[in-house]
Amino acid sequence: MIRNAKPDGFTLQNLKNELNHLGLKDAFPEIEDHAEVVYEHVDRCKKEKYLRTCDLFDAVEKCQLLCILNRVPNFKRFIHNQKGCARVPGLKCEKCKKKKKTSEIQNTMENLQIKGNEKEKELKKREDEMNRLKEELNREKERLNLEKEKNKMLQAELFKLKAEDLGNAVIQQLLDGFGDSSTKNQIKDSPTTSNNSSFPDKCLTCSTRIRSPTVNNIGCPSCKKRFHANVTISGINRFS
Ligand SMILES: [Zn+2]
Ligand SMILES: [Zn+2]
Ligand SMILES: [Zn+2]
Repeated sequence: MIRNAKPDGFTLQNLKNELNHLGLKDAFPEIEDHAEVVYEHVDRCKKEKYLRTCDLFDAVEKCQLLCILNRVPNFKRFIHNQKGCARVPGLKCEKCKKKKKTSEIQNTMENLQIKGNEKEKELKKREDEMNRLKEELNREKERLNLEKEKNKMLQAELFKLKAEDLGNAVIQQLLDGFGDSSTKNQIKDSPTTSNNSSFPDKCLTCSTRIRSPTVNNIGCPSCKKRFHANVTISGINRFS
């Protein structure tokens, strides 16, 4: 006969003592093994502030039920087939465990698949970005090559201009040098008639014949060099 619970409830140890007191340990030596999980269940589900005698009844009954179910596999299978395993606190059903594991694995697999798809998308996005950058780089390279080509052409043009400048400068320098001596010569020799009298018959640069003094003042009619006539004049004046 189950004894009454105290007004402030009963403890796990009280439940174990009760199982022992009722002689259930003789019939089911392992009954105490179920006491803890059953006690936690009744304590969680109690209707009042403290565990009452009716809860003690309930706990003892559940401990017995667990012992019986574990001893008679058919009962366990029956409860499982009725989907009642979850309603028996402390019942360890292998089939439910397997099912749970399978669904857990399925969930994990599904999660992995989702993650895999996301990774794939991410990779695709990165690949697209890389291709876009490559294209941009190629365009930039092309633009640079074009610029280089243009620079080369500009540099060649500049070089040409510089060479011409240098040529002109050298000519001017020669001219200045000759000009000084020619002025002296002109003063010394024939200041009024030197221009006409010492007029050269040939361009010293291209050897074209020069016929009139008016043409000489403009330059050589063939190669169009400026001051050309003067150069030849002073040259002839000095060396003739
Ligand atoms: Zn089950
Ligand atoms: Zn000439
Ligand atoms: Zn000439």
